[in-house]
Amino acid sequence: MNDLRAAVEAAADVLAFAPAALVTDVDGTLSRIVSRPENATVDEEIRASLRALVGRVALVAVVTGREESVARSMVGLPELTYVGNYALDTESAEVVDEGDLNAARVLVRTLLQPFPCVEIEEKGVSFALHYRNCIDVTMRERILTLVSPVAAAAGAKLLEGKQVVELVPVRLPEKSTAVARLLREREIQGVVYLGDDLGDVPVFQQMARRRAQGLPSLGLAVVDEETHAAVLESADMLLKGVDEVQTLLTALGTPADLRSKVL
Ligand SMILES: [Mg+2]
Repeated sequence: MNDLRAAVEAAADVLAFAPAALVTDVDGTLSRIVSRPENATVDEEIRASLRALVGRVALVAVVTGREESVARSMVGLPELTYVGNYALDTESAEVVDEGDLNAARVLVRTLLQPFPCVEIEEKGVSFALHYRNCIDVTMRERILTLVSPVAAAAGAKLLEGKQVVELVPVRLPEKSTAVARLLREREIQGVVYLGDDLGDVPVFQQMARRRAQGLPSLGLAVVDEETHAAVLESADMLLKGVDEVQTLLTALGTPADLRSKVL
């Protein structure tokens, strides 16, 4: 049995419990990583596969580091549940006031002026520094050296991902907080989580913890050559790229007796 088939069967088993949840990240999971984050898109095939799951699965939710409104328009399915900015929007409004990063924004822009290869992504309560387009292989270290003191002074922390460093309010909740809340509020009896990066690791760990406590749970990591070791170590099973996510979602939306035609 290939890995993809095994992942589909494991996910289908978990989603057979009711009510069940399929929770997914966006970038690198539903959309391919591109050189400029504003150009990332979700393919129509993925959208159609997710749409087919609505109704079959009680909760289909998107949990992302993007702003909620951006994720909504990228995925383009109003019938899904969305949690943006790592759940900051819904979890703790006071963190936004506390973590006013405007001064840090201005300073970081000035510090990075000599490095136009660094793309600055505004995310409302936070901002991200993408160094994917930089030729300098030491760019990550340069960014960390420049912005660490700024982050400390501004009451911000740094989150790293695939060729990105993000400045976020120090008390920003993790995605795992949002997932825990969704599971609790919806009284979920089985959960599948899809993610690809360091921000997803606490959710993968939560899946393992919940499974140990008796809740059917599965963490699926979408991997490529940039995948961090912590992602590989914490996920239950691996999918090769967004293409396998699409096949998995299509298969899960297909009746079990016809599923082999999709795989
Ligand atoms: Mg991602």
